[in-house]
Amino acid sequence: MLRTLRLIPTLSRANMHSTAHNFGAAQARLKEPEDCLAFNAEFPGPCHYHQLYEESLANPDTFWTNIASQLHFKHKSDKGLEYNFDQRKGDVFVKFMDGSITNVAFNCLERNIFRGLGDKIAYKWEGNADGDYESITYNELRTKVVEFSRVLKNRGVKKGDVVGIYLPMIVELPIAMLACARIGAIHSVVFAGFSSNALAERLRQSGAKTLITCDGFYRGKKHIPLKSIADEALMICKNINHSVESTICFEHLKRVTATGAASEVAVINDEENWDNAVADSKEVSAPVEWCQAEDPLFILYTSGSTGAPKGIVHTNAGYMTSAYYSMQVTFDAKPETDVYWCMADCGWITGHTYAVYGPLLNGMTSVLFEGIPSFPDYSRTWKIVDKHQVSKLYTSPTAVRSMMAHPDHMVKDYERSKLKVIGTVGEPMNPCAWKWLNEVVGEKACAIVDTYWQTETGCHLLTSHHTAVPQQSGCGNLPFLGISPQLLDDNGKKIRGEGHGTLVVDRAWPGMMRTIWGDHKRFIDAYFSPYPGYYFTGDGAKRDDEGHYWVTGRVDDLMNVSGHLLSTAEIEAAIASHPMVVEAAVVATSHKVKGQTPYAFVTIPDTAKFSDKIVNEMKAIIRKKIGPIAVPDIIQFAPGLPKTRSGKIVRRILRKVADGEKEANLGDTSTLTDETVIHELWVNRPIKL
Ligand code: ATP
Ligand code: MG
Repeated sequence: MLRTLRLIPTLSRANMHSTAHNFGAAQARLKEPEDCLAFNAEFPGPCHYHQLYEESLANPDTFWTNIASQLHFKHKSDKGLEYNFDQRKGDVFVKFMDGSITNVAFNCLERNIFRGLGDKIAYKWEGNADGDYESITYNELRTKVVEFSRVLKNRGVKKGDVVGIYLPMIVELPIAMLACARIGAIHSVVFAGFSSNALAERLRQSGAKTLITCDGFYRGKKHIPLKSIADEALMICKNINHSVESTICFEHLKRVTATGAASEVAVINDEENWDNAVADSKEVSAPVEWCQAEDPLFILYTSGSTGAPKGIVHTNAGYMTSAYYSMQVTFDAKPETDVYWCMADCGWITGHTYAVYGPLLNGMTSVLFEGIPSFPDYSRTWKIVDKHQVSKLYTSPTAVRSMMAHPDHMVKDYERSKLKVIGTVGEPMNPCAWKWLNEVVGEKACAIVDTYWQTETGCHLLTSHHTAVPQQSGCGNLPFLGISPQLLDDNGKKIRGEGHGTLVVDRAWPGMMRTIWGDHKRFIDAYFSPYPGYYFTGDGAKRDDEGHYWVTGRVDDLMNVSGHLLSTAEIEAAIASHPMVVEAAVVATSHKVKGQTPYAFVTIPDTAKFSDKIVNEMKAIIRKKIGPIAVPDIIQFAPGLPKTRSGKIVRRILRKVADGEKEANLGDTSTLTDETVIHELWVNRPIKL
């Protein structure tokens, strides 16, 4: 008999006798046993994971449809997963439960209310200003979603229309997303930190005719005049022949504490005003629109770390099933007692799957945070964890690195006794950051769960499965249930057992992307042409002798130094283990003799202290941890690193700086947080030898 749902989540805590073993110098793990987690519960053994994993691959249709049966479908077809990854055999496509009919918003709201969760808090909203707080129950959330669905209907939005959402992390953001899902409209959320140009381009590409925004918000001390940026974007849209017909603007500023000077006052016409729009549409009917399994649920543009962002399309039944299940398994979700907090913005996939759909489908109580970890100071995260007794936290290596640069008491002054799982996503976790989370934040009583996945994958691909498998020091991960990763060598041949290669997946899973919006050819070219028959992630990974995967970064970031394949992530991790280093980024630059050579950009807190002595210390660490071949020719001081708004280092730009490319030729910089850092790096570039 198949055991499927909740087997892993209900396994008891892992006994954390370390399985530490050496795999790659830079992935240096912490020593056992004192550095490793120690839970005193009976540990059922990894066979539980392996058994279930085998079942998920042997009978994928039964496995996934059993999970989907926990959710509400108005009609269920008898189809499971259908897909083709090999364009030589016909069109590339993925379908799950094709012909079934469901609605994701209904599953997030009504389904939970029918289960008796109506009065349960869905979101605890923490504003940017410490003290701004509101909560909303499932019943209240549903009322607001229905109200807003009526507004959309009243504006003529129909099933299949695209709606642009440009909002900060306020409750109106999930309300707007769910209202779209309720009426079968396709949402396209654009991060509220993006410029008018970036917004206009995404509105044009997605074909959105409706835009939902707010008057403005505060990010730390900075006032962001969102409405006026949105207005500018609409002007740009006109100039590029795309007309957005309807705008709805929520008045957010009147309910928050001002934390800085307002740069301007928003101009909101009566017909744009959210409250007026709600009042005007009271009589409009907006019933749940029952959608086909494969109708699009949303479009989301990727972060743009490797090039121009791609409009990734996710559909109803498959995405819902994967979001629901991966939320449970990875976070060991206990909806009855958990207070869960995903710090990612809904402008990114993590916010979609693990701040909105995953937690709501599971009836969780979540914190929704409008602010930033540094405001009013770096203790804010831990203050919120203490205030709401957060039990599961989902953050990113970049946030962790910024917090660990500050004194430990900023964490330790706050209670974290309920905290059981700390997840991270976005980039490889370097061992120092892992150690800090484990020791300072988790006090060795939390599982540190690295999650590897992408906008395209919709849900986790590799995670630690901490409830079933002994915790590793560092981020050695196992495939998520139903996910079949492979490593390919340079010739596209499968690597068996231990090895380092390109990470691909050889079969479909329900929550994966279906296409790139308006560009199915690019979808095939980018993800399925490089290795026919496989989904190409673009990332490299190592697999150790126990089958754990260690993601080493983008394959484009691998370098070949005198015939030795080196990963930038490994060298970065080695540099970051120097006590003065806050952050490091390594890229390959061309070299007459060696072919390529590493070039490092390093941030330390105090500019004046960047000296030859420190550079030599870093070089010595790399020499010792990896070998002389990995020592960069140049280690350049970087006051800041170019990052996407989701906090990822954009190495394609650093590569150009290292190669001495003209500043004007740096490519798409629209997704960067701060374009000025590039100029600084460029002018301070040492002359290449
Ligand atoms: P684009 O595809 O436009 O270049 P992007 O790849 O940065 O942007 P995302 O989908 O936000 O867009 O990020 C996915 C990528 O983030 C992965 O391909 C991988 O490189 C990196 N990543 C995410 N999580 C991890 C992790 N846990 N360990 C290592 N890398 C990770
Ligand atoms: Mg990508």
